[in-house]
Amino acid sequence: MASEVTENGCGVAAEPTQPQEPGRGSARWGPQHAGARELAGLYSPGKRCQEWISVILCFSLMAFNFIHLLANFHLGHSWSILLGIVAGILTADFASGLVHWGADTWGSVDLPIFGKAFIRPFREHHIDPTAITRHDFIETNGDNCMLTIVPLATMAFNFLTLSPAEVYHIYPWYCYLFALAIFVTLTNQIHKWSHTYFGLPFWVVFLQDCHIILPRKHHRIHHVSPHETYFCITTGWLNYPLEKLGFWRTLEDLIQSVTGEKPRADDMKWAQKLK
Ligand SMILES: [Zn+2]
Ligand SMILES: [Zn+2]
Repeated sequence: MASEVTENGCGVAAEPTQPQEPGRGSARWGPQHAGARELAGLYSPGKRCQEWISVILCFSLMAFNFIHLLANFHLGHSWSILLGIVAGILTADFASGLVHWGADTWGSVDLPIFGKAFIRPFREHHIDPTAITRHDFIETNGDNCMLTIVPLATMAFNFLTLSPAEVYHIYPWYCYLFALAIFVTLTNQIHKWSHTYFGLPFWVVFLQDCHIILPRKHHRIHHVSPHETYFCITTGWLNYPLEKLGFWRTLEDLIQSVTGEKPRADDMKWAQKLK
């Protein structure tokens, strides 16, 4: 049983009777799950184009800003750079949790445009957790790249227009922003690695084992149905404290009491779609 969990990287996957053959139409999870097949089919060429543009823009801006950060480096900033990087990583981890929690818990694939483009991958991921390991670089990272384009473009514009004295003053803040942008951009790649059990480069496994990025065993806690905890997927550093605080539960109770919406109703609907 334990080895099944390991291979699939998914708590709900610990069912030894999983049907795999095409055509059976009653798979409880995985690529043959009826809901997973329908969700995968909604990945459109337009969406693919948006992802390509996002990846190209994001990585170009990142390289540009990195060169300018190096060119403006001063030893006197060492401690504030370190602080900025740690704070940037923590912010990225929290943001990953907030976005993941929001998409898992609320909204529906039926929402116009937004539902198919941005909620669909979250629904697919719960019923076919290994699909992400078959997605290429563009599909894995496109949406996260899109999120960081505006802040990275603003930073690049400021490097071109501010005086050296102004850049010196703002430098630690830019280290924070750059670390945040890097980790937000890499979040889904890190998430993909946490589901990959074969062929990972040794340095990725090393970073996972040191818990510098999301470890595989740690992320499996989220994949136990009904997927109501451990939403942070960048480093996962905030998962334990947020769970102890009952952070997500409190937020859900609050939203349910105001809107009357039931948390994860749409997620449950897709999970139960067996035909
Ligand atoms: Zn999830
Ligand atoms: Zn996952």
